[in-house]
Amino acid sequence: MKFGRIQNQKFGTFDGAYSLVTQREIKDSQITLTDHEVEVVTSFFGNTIHTGNVKGSDGASLKTFRLHPSGTIIHLNLVYPKPAKSELRLYIATGKGFMPEVGDVVFFYIRDDELWIGNMSEFNWRFQFSALTDDTDDSSYQELVNQTRQTTVDVFKRKRKVALDVMAEANYRCEATPSHRLFVSKSTGNNYLEAHHIIPVSLGSQFDEQLDVKENVVCLCPFCHRALHHAEPKIAIPILNRVVKQRPVFEKFGVSTDDLYNFYALEKIV
Ligand SMILES: [Zn+2]
Ligand SMILES: [Zn+2]
Repeated sequence: MKFGRIQNQKFGTFDGAYSLVTQREIKDSQITLTDHEVEVVTSFFGNTIHTGNVKGSDGASLKTFRLHPSGTIIHLNLVYPKPAKSELRLYIATGKGFMPEVGDVVFFYIRDDELWIGNMSEFNWRFQFSALTDDTDDSSYQELVNQTRQTTVDVFKRKRKVALDVMAEANYRCEATPSHRLFVSKSTGNNYLEAHHIIPVSLGSQFDEQLDVKENVVCLCPFCHRALHHAEPKIAIPILNRVVKQRPVFEKFGVSTDDLYNFYALEKIV
């Protein structure tokens, strides 16, 4: 799978790919590169990749990689096992410094004219690459939009107004599931709701348009909001899909469903 904007930003690269390691691959100590992995690796090594078996290649199959995150240089065998070059195979070995575990995400990316390789658990991957991990829909933002008293100089007026307008237009109902049970806020006298940015504000630098606008903000009950941020894909994806139907985010911000799943680290990794 091709890196999304999140991975490119966090790895400091313009191109990378990742996939899930299978039990078979670990058992055989070899990974068959697929889809975009092939493109990244071949764009880097060009036509210097050996065709045929590792044995008998006389060292020509050994390629240099940088190990993420330490930067250690490692050498792994990489070959086209068949003359048709229909498959690209990478040999992994503890002795060579690279041995992922079953279910790990293995990734490749190009940075500073070097090819980096790494692995991490799928949980760690989803945690690190969620744009929600460092977004601003935090509790202080919710406090801000859920208070009526305003200071003389209300520097957050605009910020609050977007969220309050969204809540009023939704008739103070959860926009993911309007029938969700809510409680009345003692500060506002309205149903308590939380404001959520569909495209996380932490990605602001990647968009020309402002993200703190009504087209990108929905109001959710606390359950749906926390689930959208923290739940496993089978729970979070339906909430995200329902929320997206409420706003023109695809048209206005030029993102796709895959982009959104990538922002939320909800993509199915294959
Ligand atoms: Zn949120
Ligand atoms: Zn809800």
